[in-house]
Amino acid sequence: MNQKPEIAPAGLLQPVLPLARLLLLLFLTGPFSRIEDVLAELNEPVESQCRYDDPQAAAGPYLDILQNFTAVKSNKLLDFIVVDEENHRLDRMEALELWVGQQILARELGGINSLLCGNEHCDLCCTGPKEAARQNFFEIPLMDDETGIFNLTKIDSAGSRRHTAGDDQALELDDGQLFYHRENPALYHWRGGWSLILPRQTSCPNLGKDGRCLIYAKRPVVCRQPQIFPYLLEPDAQGGTGTAVYIARRKLLAIWDCPYVKQFREQIAAYAELCGLEPIFKENKA
Ligand code: SF4
Ligand code: SF4
Repeated sequence: MNQKPEIAPAGLLQPVLPLARLLLLLFLTGPFSRIEDVLAELNEPVESQCRYDDPQAAAGPYLDILQNFTAVKSNKLLDFIVVDEENHRLDRMEALELWVGQQILARELGGINSLLCGNEHCDLCCTGPKEAARQNFFEIPLMDDETGIFNLTKIDSAGSRRHTAGDDQALELDDGQLFYHRENPALYHWRGGWSLILPRQTSCPNLGKDGRCLIYAKRPVVCRQPQIFPYLLEPDAQGGTGTAVYIARRKLLAIWDCPYVKQFREQIAAYAELCGLEPIFKENKA
C-alpha cells in the first residue's frame, strides 16, 4: 500500500529552472554552439540558487527543452511572441527564457504531481461539484487526440464552437437546456478546443469504484499536473494570427483544495521563489 509522503519530493526542494538559467548564462558568455557542450563542462557540483551535486543528472532529462536556448545565438525567428501584461512585446531573450521555463516546469511539476497525487486516495479532480457548490460544472481541458479515451457523447456544433465553457451567456443545447444542466458528463468542442465537462454530482467515466483512474497510464496531460501549475506564460486567447502569442505572468498556481498542496504549502512557496515566480494559492472548488 502507498504511504502518504511526510517529506516533499526532491524536485520540489531543488527545481531545475535555476540550473537551466545558469546553463543559459554559460552558453551566452562562452564559446559554445550547443547546450550539451555546456552541460558536459559541468562535471562538478554547482550552486545556482540551490546546490546541484550532479548537474548533468539534474539537467539531462530536460536537454531537449534546453536545446531551444541555442536560438539566442542564431537569427532564426521564434515561432511565438510573448507580450507583457500591458501588451508590450518582450525581447527575444526574455521571451525564450520564459518559454523554456514554462516547458521545464510543466515536465518537472507533472512528475511531482503524479508522485503526490498517486499517494492521496483522493478523487477531487475527477468529480464534478457537490450539490451545494457555487460552481455548476468542472472543466477538464483536452488535447484533440485525447477525446477518444472517454466513452462519452460529443457535442460539436456551430454554437459550441462560438462559446467557451466559461462564457457569461452559457451554451444552450438543442433541447433548450444549458449545457451544464445535462445529467451526464460530455465532451464539448469549444472555441478554443475540446474539454470534458463534469456537471454537479457527476464523475469522470474513467474513475473506478475504488477512487482510482482506470486509464492511469493513458490519462490526459491535464490529469498529470492537476494541482500545481506553471504559469510563467498564458496563451493569449486574442491571438489567432497563426503565430502563438503568450502573456508573461511569472507565477506558479497551486490549488488549495488539494490535500498535498496544503501539506507542502511552504515547500511549494520556496520552489516558486527559487524559480523567481510569485506563488498563488487559490481555491478552485467551493
Ligand atoms: S481520466 Fe483519470 S485522472 Fe483524469 S479525470 Fe478521469 S479518472 Fe481522473
Ligand atoms: S485534489 Fe490533489 S490529491 Fe486529489 S485528485 Fe486532485 S491532485 Fe490528486
